[in-house]
Amino acid sequence: MTKTKRKLTEELFSPAPGKTDHTEIPYCALREHLDCCDGIGYNLKPVGAFLRGNLCDCVSSCETCFGKTRSLQSGSSVPCRTPSPNRIVNVLNQAQIPARYCYAKLDNFVNFTGNGRQIRQFVASWVREFNPNAPQGLILGGPVGVGKTYLLAAIAKNFAARGLSVKFVDFFQLLNEIKGAYAHSRSDSNILNPLIDVDILFIDELGKGRSSDWEMSIIDQIIMGRYNRNKIIVATTNYNLGPERYTPMNQKDLDEGSFGNFNLDGYETLEKRVGQRIYSRLVETCLIKELTGEDYRKQLIPKLQETPPPPQPNRSGASRGLDDYR
Ligand SMILES: [Zn+2]
Ligand SMILES: [Zn+2]
Repeated sequence: MTKTKRKLTEELFSPAPGKTDHTEIPYCALREHLDCCDGIGYNLKPVGAFLRGNLCDCVSSCETCFGKTRSLQSGSSVPCRTPSPNRIVNVLNQAQIPARYCYAKLDNFVNFTGNGRQIRQFVASWVREFNPNAPQGLILGGPVGVGKTYLLAAIAKNFAARGLSVKFVDFFQLLNEIKGAYAHSRSDSNILNPLIDVDILFIDELGKGRSSDWEMSIIDQIIMGRYNRNKIIVATTNYNLGPERYTPMNQKDLDEGSFGNFNLDGYETLEKRVGQRIYSRLVETCLIKELTGEDYRKQLIPKLQETPPPPQPNRSGASRGLDDYR
């Protein structure tokens, strides 16, 4: 036994005042649920484009585990907590969750202009009951600005906190990255393999792009690669979630005998964007939900208009800045 280890063992098992039970679990800062990190052992902050996790000072300076979040119990090294905050921090720092959604939490979701309340509740119970051994994915559809990406980031953080490896990608950005890799004559497998291997892949704006054969082949590689490994995706999309129905776009199309790939409500379908084969895999492995509501960015506008307008005769025109309303 090394000197350090002996010292650690002595410290851990020397009885605290009034206590004599040597098998008692040793003190660890993690178990004190300190305010510095609400007891989770790590903190998050936006750094550059992504959320970044750091082990909290209370853990890194813990005199029992010395930030290793493992302690000696009855002579063997056991984790202070599972999953260890170290593991969670590592997962979060690989996840590439956008900095904008650093503090996203299901509890803090507030766009209830549509079915947000029900969807939040549904997502919370889906996350709670998620079984990594029999995973079921989720696709959230809905218009721009209802909070799909916020929910996606909140779910990713939640799974990371459970120790599952996660990766967050914006689909359109991903395509650009892969194109960039080609431009530098690098293989796309460096980019694609981690997306296929990760426990849970989060895709924002699935289907966005030009739907070219090449883009379809990228989707195919990712989704089929994961499907064959029994791995799910969690995704958002702006496209219509229903199956493709070849409905006439309008009377003119009918007259000309051509049919558009649009559903009755005018939104292009996800099925068309990702192809029938992929769509059918998604339907098989994912729950599909639609989030409705108003664009939260637009909701900011009425608030500005409620404040009394300035006493200026000219109240039209786009030249008026937001500051004029103060
Ligand atoms: Zn500790
Ligand atoms: Zn702390």
